[in-house]
Amino acid sequence: METTLVLIKPGGVARNLNGEIIRRIELRGLKITGLKLLNAPRETVEAHYAEHKERPFFNDVVNYLCSGPIVAIAVSGPNATKAIRMMMGATNPVEAEPGTVRGDMALTIEDNLVHSSSDPEAAANELKLWFAEGTVG
Ligand code: ADP
Ligand code: MG
Repeated sequence: METTLVLIKPGGVARNLNGEIIRRIELRGLKITGLKLLNAPRETVEAHYAEHKERPFFNDVVNYLCSGPIVAIAVSGPNATKAIRMMMGATNPVEAEPGTVRGDMALTIEDNLVHSSSDPEAAANELKLWFAEGTVG
């Protein structure tokens, strides 16, 4: 059993895709164990994307995540991180397979609708950023 993080980015919330994305997660057999809609504090987003701090797109992606409400979701199940990552699809939606969230619903890397943790260790760290201790499960 593993718990991982999904964020529905502002573009996904604005397009009313929360239900469709959550439907796919539940249909797969994974369990929603934490869920909230929030306006992300800038410092949380900066910590979340700390690995990209030196990248040219860092400011843009942080600004984007702070541009409107997002949905943070804790998702639990066997191999949850890998399963979710595959379901969300490649970072650049034009390279994402049809059948994935990005491959079915997105077109640009700047607005690729969702975040998902890259591995279980990242998932554990990210969950601590977005959910207070003891509130997931
Ligand atoms: P992923 O979200 O698939 O884990 P990364 O961790 O590499 O992808 O990047 C984090 C986010 O930063 C991406 O989801 C995307 O929104 C944005 N991003 C990544 N690479 C670029 C890029 N070359 N230009 C603009 N935005 C980017
Ligand atoms: Mg990443």
